[in-house]
Amino acid sequence: MNSWVSGCEDRIQFGLKLLSWYDSNKRSTAWRDTGNPYHIWVSEIMLQQTRVDQMESYFTRFINVFPTIEDLASAEEDKVLKAWEGLGYYSRARNMLKTAREVVTKFNGKIPETYDQLLDLPGIGPYTAAAISSIAYGHGNAVLDGNVVRVLSRLFKISSDPGKTMIKAEMMEIAKKLLVSERPGDFNQAIMELGACVCTPKTPKCNVCAVSSKCRAYIELDDPTILPKKKKKKLKPHYQVVAGLIWRDYEVLIAQRPENGMLGGLWEFPGGKQEEGESFEECLIREIREELDFEIVVEDPLHSIDHSYSHFKITLHLYCARYFSGRPKAVGCADWCWISPDRFDDFAFPKSDLKIIDYLKNTEYFKSVL
Ligand code: SF4
Repeated sequence: MNSWVSGCEDRIQFGLKLLSWYDSNKRSTAWRDTGNPYHIWVSEIMLQQTRVDQMESYFTRFINVFPTIEDLASAEEDKVLKAWEGLGYYSRARNMLKTAREVVTKFNGKIPETYDQLLDLPGIGPYTAAAISSIAYGHGNAVLDGNVVRVLSRLFKISSDPGKTMIKAEMMEIAKKLLVSERPGDFNQAIMELGACVCTPKTPKCNVCAVSSKCRAYIELDDPTILPKKKKKKLKPHYQVVAGLIWRDYEVLIAQRPENGMLGGLWEFPGGKQEEGESFEECLIREIREELDFEIVVEDPLHSIDHSYSHFKITLHLYCARYFSGRPKAVGCADWCWISPDRFDDFAFPKSDLKIIDYLKNTEYFKSVL
């Protein structure tokens, strides 16, 4: 598998070519080259599920709200979730808050340097620990993310499934051998950048690739995109979900999701998944009883949106409803409150509800009350 990676001369040549390409072609970002370990940590946590080109505005917003790790450590969780809004996978934001508090109390506010110390912090796995220690502190730890796996699979024509532990371990060995010890952080970023911008999944730009002379897939295969070996995609289940815009006088009810579940701690228009044989209206009435223990009258359908999560898809049907009787109780949710619609921006909502809020803000009625 390793072919030229064992030759010292070849490795040096490869490193020089890759770094020279990176120096001239890297995308400019708000966090690169700052050398600020706090910024690098925040960016690496965001990058776990978000592409570089989509992340800039989220990063800038977050750093504006929490300019230092001390600001983050002293924040309420609600405020952190609000600053994270739109990025998804909210457990990352909650873990960042825990990590910030730990770094302030145990490390005097300085993000730790070593791979092992970083790995002990909440929300930091092997990839993130290697990325932070190499990029922020110049430690010689190689990274292996999806981009690196793709580039290595093609460079060394690795046709085994990279999801297998043994193959992953072999790839990590290759990544460690290739790492340029004088510039480990730049090398890690360069190989990831090559995967993101040149050696892309479906249309690699081999004709302009700085390392094509070292690439076995390019030299030996008609089509490098057959690598890495892909897993068969499972079809995502699709659920129908109903939510209520429940009015009492001039306020609507929003509910907070339980802390430990999916999208924990975020606020939403209450409702839930339609059960077999149930109409949308019946579903909404049942969900409100189960979650909040009060009675509503369901009125008109307002809007529907489609939304995709990592393991399933939903169509979310929003209905207008009115409070009827009972006092809401947080039975199946963490909390609830009545708010005027001009306060939507004070709460952190998941993306599906933000799509609904966007829609509402453009309706004539809402324009008049907002
Ligand atoms: Fe990827 Fe093509 Fe470059 Fe090989 S030559 S690393 S397949 S872009």
